[in-house]
Amino acid sequence: MTDLLAAYRHSTRNQAEIEASTVCGCFNCTQIFPPEEIIAWGGIDAASFDDPDALAALNGTALCPRCGGETVIGDKSGFRIDLDFLRDMNEAWCQRTIIRPKKPIA
Ligand SMILES: [Zn+2]
Repeated sequence: MTDLLAAYRHSTRNQAEIEASTVCGCFNCTQIFPPEEIIAWGGIDAASFDDPDALAALNGTALCPRCGGETVIGDKSGFRIDLDFLRDMNEAWCQRTIIRPKKPIA
């Protein structure tokens, strides 16, 4: 579980790491693809919106080219990108369900 938590941190602000990777995977749709397929990056804030330098320096968050999720990890993270790993991540982060019964209103 600690591994999966560590891996999860590689799914945000990961543009530099993704671009240095040879293969990427998405743990939302469990697809595997080369980093060149990623054309959309999230994480642009209002302050950097009109500033080309800030935009260029931005270490964005990869959006999955297959499902649009911010759930992409590259092999440069040190994790082996294969179906088993993506399924484990999917189970831990995408299918988690927390049920909290509401307290009755007094
Ligand atoms: Zn995906």
